[in-house]
Amino acid sequence: MQRIVPLLYNPESCFEFRAKRLEKLLQTPARIYFKYEGSSPAGSHKPNTAVPQAYYNAKEGVKNVVTETGAGQWGSSLAFASSLFGLDCEVWQVANSYHQKPYRRLMMQTWGAKVHPSPSDLTEAGRKILESDPSSPGSLGIAISEAVEVAARNEDTKYCLGSVLNHVLLHQTVIGEECIKQMEDFGETPDVIIGCTGGGSNFAGLSFPFIREKLKGNISPVIRAVEPSTCPSLTKGVYAYDFGDTAGLTPLMKMHTLGHDFIPDPIHAGGLRYHGMAPLISHVYEQGFMEAISIPQIECFQGAIQFARTEGIIPAPEPTHAIAATIREALRCKETGEAKVILMAMCGHGHFDLSSYDKYLKGELVDLSFSEDKIRESLSKVPHVV
Ligand SMILES: *Cc1c(COP(=O)(O)O)cnc(C)c1O
Repeated sequence: MQRIVPLLYNPESCFEFRAKRLEKLLQTPARIYFKYEGSSPAGSHKPNTAVPQAYYNAKEGVKNVVTETGAGQWGSSLAFASSLFGLDCEVWQVANSYHQKPYRRLMMQTWGAKVHPSPSDLTEAGRKILESDPSSPGSLGIAISEAVEVAARNEDTKYCLGSVLNHVLLHQTVIGEECIKQMEDFGETPDVIIGCTGGGSNFAGLSFPFIREKLKGNISPVIRAVEPSTCPSLTKGVYAYDFGDTAGLTPLMKMHTLGHDFIPDPIHAGGLRYHGMAPLISHVYEQGFMEAISIPQIECFQGAIQFARTEGIIPAPEPTHAIAATIREALRCKETGEAKVILMAMCGHGHFDLSSYDKYLKGELVDLSFSEDKIRESLSKVPHVV
């Protein structure tokens, strides 16, 4: 199984590892494997879709790709991919992150992308917000509106999205296809497959090829999605048609949603702060091929510290959710004496998210309480589709 840019980074560097030292720390009979996507140039799984998206756009004669980004994981991946195929890349980065988290912005600029703080005065949508609030911190919803507006008014410009949509999930299945082969090399069959879900792309990427094998009757692993307890679209949201963005510009998608104007609390796992969920993940969940749990962030960082101190890799805040769920499962195995094989998606490193570790290590991290009222209110605005 080959990644699309084998010359730039060795596909074999997206390794699967066994976490023997973590197993030992937990004194579990379970065998824990993880698939590591942090060795890509951008440090996460996102280049798996950014590269094919840039490639197909370049092949069609598109000159410029535009997108939004929060902390910068997606923006930096698209900037990297655009540099491979000579595309111009413009990114609207949520103003707050643009100013407070300069490192991924600098990565984007190093790869040649133009980065604008959003709201900007370059678009109608941005100007409108700036008029009413000149120091607006911005939001993903606003940044999407700006990028979409620029794509809509320029012939040679296309908008790219880094998660949620079917083609993105399809591109990411390279993760699971590799993993099936790598598990064979280990002589193992997973009993439990665990990953974090924001828009759903990294976990669909890992789990869908295994679900295919499950449907063929070859294996029967439990597939477990993990979401933050402050943004629980699978475990607390409704399955309905809703907009993908805050402003309501996108087509309606049938998915698990907390309502398109639900603004999740500012947890550190920015990539998991999305009101919806990939329609394909939502479908698989509805069909009963996948289960879901939610975990609060302090438990996640506790797990991340145990992982970093045994396996050496400092995880991005998002996969700390998968780590915490893996540790829960491994500790259950310790109680029951079952030697389960656990496979976990370790979708990125946290080298540019160290300020969240700083908070945790200083004891300043808090679990934000989850409000049923807030969800009830935003769910009341999910469009009524008959
Ligand atoms: C973007 C991102 C996520 C969330 O997106 P999914 O589509 O759910 O994978 C999770 N982890 C990392 C490291 C990310 O960059």
